[in-house]
Amino acid sequence: MICQTSKQGVECFFMAKNGCNYNGGSCYTIVESCTGCARVTEYSAGKYCSSYPQPELKWTSGQCNFATHIKAETLKEDKKVNALKASKRKAAGKM
Ligand code: SF4
Repeated sequence: MICQTSKQGVECFFMAKNGCNYNGGSCYTIVESCTGCARVTEYSAGKYCSSYPQPELKWTSGQCNFATHIKAETLKEDKKVNALKASKRKAAGKM
């Protein structure tokens, strides 16, 4: 249904005939960590996330997985070299 509370005019899964069914009856505004994210949308009631109703919870256990303004940390694995094989390759003239 179309939201009648914080994101007025937006189609929302939580909206029902008797009002918003989300925790507390409304979405929650973005948190400081959301600043810069492309999913932040400004409505007359304030700034909300277009993907998640309670942004604060997306940041409680690390970075928000929907965020567009941060890059996922990828661990570069150091290439492990087998010393014995490397020695044999060197001896054979292959590198
Ligand atoms: S996607 Fe995550 S970081 Fe972006 S506005 Fe929503 S909760 Fe905040």
